[in-house]
Amino acid sequence: MTKTQQVRLAKRPSGLSDADTWEVSTQELPAIADGQILVRVDFISVDPAMRGWLNDVRSYLPPVGIGEIMRALDIATVVESAHPDFAVGDAVSGMFGVSEYAISDGHGVTKVDLGVATGPTWLGALGMAGMTAYFGLLDVGRLQAGETVVVSAAAGAVGSVAGQIAKAKGATVIGIAGGAEKCRMLTEELGFDAAIDYRGEHVLSRLREVAPGGVDVYFDNVGGEILDAALANLRRGARVVLCGAIASYNDDKLPTGPSRYMSLLVFRASMTGFVVMDYADRYPEAIAQISQWLADGSIISREHVVEGGVARFGETLNMLFAGANTGKLVLAV
Ligand code: NAP
Repeated sequence: MTKTQQVRLAKRPSGLSDADTWEVSTQELPAIADGQILVRVDFISVDPAMRGWLNDVRSYLPPVGIGEIMRALDIATVVESAHPDFAVGDAVSGMFGVSEYAISDGHGVTKVDLGVATGPTWLGALGMAGMTAYFGLLDVGRLQAGETVVVSAAAGAVGSVAGQIAKAKGATVIGIAGGAEKCRMLTEELGFDAAIDYRGEHVLSRLREVAPGGVDVYFDNVGGEILDAALANLRRGARVVLCGAIASYNDDKLPTGPSRYMSLLVFRASMTGFVVMDYADRYPEAIAQISQWLADGSIISREHVVEGGVARFGETLNMLFAGANTGKLVLAV
C-alpha cells in the first residue's frame, strides 16, 4: 500500500484562491491492476489556467469538481508497472494531479528523456509552455522574419519562450513585464530588443517609441489595458494571438471588452484564440526544434522551482497572479 498526500478542491473561490479553497489530505492507494502504473510525482506544473478550472463554467475542459484532486500536469517516475509500455524507473509526463503518487492506465502519459533536459524544463520550454509559445507564434501568429513582435507576461513561462523563438526567427522583439529586474533579464539575458515595465511605464506611449513602425504580431498573455495599448500600435495586416488574459482570471465580473477593438478594422488585423492541446499531434515537431534551440543556445529555459511539496500548492498558484515567478513555475514534490 502506498500513502499519498494530495490536494483536493474544497470550495470554489471568489477572487484569488485561499486556504479555504483546498483540502490537503492523505490517502492509501490500492494495489495496481493489470494495465496500470504507479507513479511518484516529482514536479507539478503550476499554471494560470488552473484558476479557470476552479470556476463552474463551460470551457475547453470541464471544471474540477468539488472534492476532486486538483488537475495538474506532472513529471513523475514509474515506481510499479503492470503496463506493457512502461517500466519501473521510466520518467513520464502526465495529468496525475496535485498528488505525491498516482495510479494511471497510461492514457495521455508520455515518456520524457531526462538526459535531454531536466524535469522542470520538460514542463517549461519542452513542455506545455514551450508548445504554446511555438504554435501560438508560428501557426496562429504566422510570424515572418523581419517583423516586429510584442509579447506580454514576457518574463513568464510562455512569454519568455515566445520572445526567444521570435528572435531565433529573425524578428525584432519587445517584451512587456512587471518590474525593472524582469525587464533587465529580458534584454540582457534573453536577447529581447526592448522591454517595457508595465508597472512603472506608460505602455501605450512606450510602444510607440520602441516600435515606431507598428507591431506585426502581438502575443497576448494578459488582456486588459495592455491588450488595448498593443491594439493602438498595430501595423497593417497585424496578427493578435489570444493566448491568455491573466489580468482577469481572478475577477468575479466579466471584464469589459477591449476598448480599442476597432484597430482590427483600421489595420486590417486579426485576433485569433487557440488552445495548445489542439496541436498535440505536432508536439514532436516543436520538441525537436526547441531542443535544438536549447542545445545551440538560441533559447534559455528559465524555471522557478518552489520546494515544499503538495501542501504548498495553493500559495504557489497565487504567485502567478502576483508576478512572483520568473520563467516556468514548478512545485517540487
Ligand atoms: P507565467 O507567464 O509564467 O506567469 C504569469 C505571469 O503573468 C506573472 O509572472 C506576471 O508577470 C503576469 N501577470 C500576472 N497578473 C498580471 C496582470 N494583472 N497584468 C499583467 N501581467 C500579469 O504563466 P504562463 O504559464 O506562461 O501563462 C501565460 C499565459 O498563457 C496565461 O494567460 C495562460 O493562461 C496562457 N496559456 C495559454 C495556453 C493556451 O493554450 N492558449 C496554454 C498555456 C498558457 P509580471 O511580473 O510581468 O506581471
